[in-house]
Amino acid sequence: MTTQHARDLGTLPKAHLHLHFTGSMRIGTLADLAAQHGIPLPEALTESWPPRLHATDERGWFRFQRLYDVARSCVRGEADLRRLVREAAEDDAAEGSRWLEIQVEPTSYAPFVGGLTPALEIILDEARAASLEVGIGVGVIVAASRVRHPLDARTLARLAVRYAGSRPGDVVGFGLSNDERRGQLLDFAPAFEIARRGGLALVPHAGELLGPASVQDTLSVLRPDRIGHGVRCVEDPRVMHEVADAEVTLEVCPGSNVSLGVYPRASEVPLPALLEAGIPVALGADDPLLLGTRLVAQYAMARQDLGLDDEELATLAAGSVRGSQAPEEVRRQALADIEHWLTNASVARGAQGPELVGAPLSRHSEGSDQPAPSSS
Ligand SMILES: [Zn+2]
Repeated sequence: MTTQHARDLGTLPKAHLHLHFTGSMRIGTLADLAAQHGIPLPEALTESWPPRLHATDERGWFRFQRLYDVARSCVRGEADLRRLVREAAEDDAAEGSRWLEIQVEPTSYAPFVGGLTPALEIILDEARAASLEVGIGVGVIVAASRVRHPLDARTLARLAVRYAGSRPGDVVGFGLSNDERRGQLLDFAPAFEIARRGGLALVPHAGELLGPASVQDTLSVLRPDRIGHGVRCVEDPRVMHEVADAEVTLEVCPGSNVSLGVYPRASEVPLPALLEAGIPVALGADDPLLLGTRLVAQYAMARQDLGLDDEELATLAAGSVRGSQAPEEVRRQALADIEHWLTNASVARGAQGPELVGAPLSRHSEGSDQPAPSSS
């Protein structure tokens, strides 16, 4: 249709629910911090950036983690932590994001600022300040790592719950990240139980490096509100329909999938099949520092490589807002503005708009425009 490529994806209001703290860093900021702290950077993070990863095998994943560790080691004191939060907020706001849930595993920063609690408090404080000054709400997801001891996950869950809330600068969720092939899911269930009782949204990673069984296990063991990635549930229609029935939002990151070699090209990311099954989806950038693409690029891939039209892209944006933990007034405004983006741009461009005016934003099952249930 004539409106297919008419609208600016940068002005499409959206929420960003899958962005890691270190991975959000600008490549220029990494260069600055590395120079400041005297840390040599590998070529993959300088001249040859962005790196080619293909992390679906152990060696590739090891390389990805090694680059990640180098980047993480460049983030040291309070000023660095604040700079990362501030720049992530600025970059997201510049891409039309109204609400960002940034995911942090604070353990590695803790020694530089006197412990886990100060590390998290600095990040929350800056998230609150940036939200006031940058024009975006920033909530924080505390994520445990699968490669650490499950008792560490419980410690993090208890810490996260102390700062739980739904305002900018609050902890809004609890995640589980790192190599899906490591650790036993069941061992992390007690940490997730602490987070659930504390009212946090549960947002573990699954179904990216591992197939549909990992999604099914995550659904039954952790009972999540959202799943990071989860795309490989399409390999088993039964699991895919379980995700749809549970109304669990999948945080789909096409750029990450391609860069890590989960799919050979963006046109093979099974986003249309997920939408067709009625699964709520929120597009995310994952780790722009290592993967080379930010938020708007994910929507551009959905448009160019997967053939989604503007109405479907608006549906995705609405899915990100509904799947978020954003305060009610932020959600309402963003959803109204998404509709405005869809109707107004068609008028401005003189395209055929009448069939879009008042069109439902969602092609999911009925009731999908109800606010998502709270995580508690
Ligand atoms: Zn991730």
